[in-house]
Amino acid sequence: MQYPAPIEKLIASYMKLPGIGSKTATRLAFYTIDMNKDDVDAFATSLTEAKSKLHYCSICGNITDDDPCEICQDQGRDQTTILVVEQPKDVMSIDRTNEYHGLYHVLHGVLSPIEGRGPEDLNIESLITRLQKHPEVKEVIVATNATPEGEATAQYLARLIKPAQIKVTRLAHGLAVGSDIEYADEMTLLKAVEGRTEI
Ligand SMILES: [Zn+2]
Repeated sequence: MQYPAPIEKLIASYMKLPGIGSKTATRLAFYTIDMNKDDVDAFATSLTEAKSKLHYCSICGNITDDDPCEICQDQGRDQTTILVVEQPKDVMSIDRTNEYHGLYHVLHGVLSPIEGRGPEDLNIESLITRLQKHPEVKEVIVATNATPEGEATAQYLARLIKPAQIKVTRLAHGLAVGSDIEYADEMTLLKAVEGRTEI
């Protein structure tokens, strides 16, 4: 016994999302069917618009509907510092602290031999090109998460960047080991940026 095809299709779509199994997907599908038509239309439009209008900034890799992104275009920002994060959402977390006013670079992941992710799978080459093009950059702050992969990625970047006489620093570990930037509160992040140390 199967549900009518449109429901099955909707369930299959929800199951493509992370952490959603068939039970949750089924619940969401039936919930969607009960929603009023305007809300469903708005939901569908926001999905397709997000996909068609958003892309990664060609300079920093952050998610944007403009290229270069708002941050890269902002000449009022400190052009001598680049803060490197794992994911676009980390940019938002750090920027909300209002403590950091420099530029960003998004790696889109961390090195992970177990998952077969090497330097070529991350947004690293563009960081190196960026540093070569912009000798005004004096410091790269590596703000990968405090996980073994995050640490290994920070060490890798330090080895790569330091020969160019650029200071490489790491966020202070007010951040608990294994913790994600995403879940750190603003005060912790602020302290982590202030207390950064050279690697
Ligand atoms: Zn950008």
